Amino acid sequence: MPTYEFRCRACGSTFDVQRPMSESTAPATCPHGHDDTVKLLSMVGLGGKATAPSGGGGGGCCGGGCCGG
Ligand SMILES: [Zn+2]
Repeated sequence: MPTYEFRCRACGSTFDVQRPMSESTAPATCPHGHDDTVKLLSMVGLGGKATAPSGGGGGGCCGGGCCGG
C-alpha cells in the first residue's frame, strides 16, 4: 500500500498516511486533529518522474572495469 505525505496548514506538521491508491485524493486529518491539510508529493514513484536516462549517449564506461588502468 503506498504511503502519502500530508502537511497540516494549521500547525505545519507533516505526517504520513498509508492508504490504497483509490483513496489517494481523500482528505487526511492531522494527528493533532486539524482538517486543513494538503497532500505533498508522493513518497513512492508511481509513474512519476524518474531519473533514468532516456536512452543512448551516456558515458557509463567507467565503473564496469573497461576503463581500468
Ligand atoms: Zn495540525
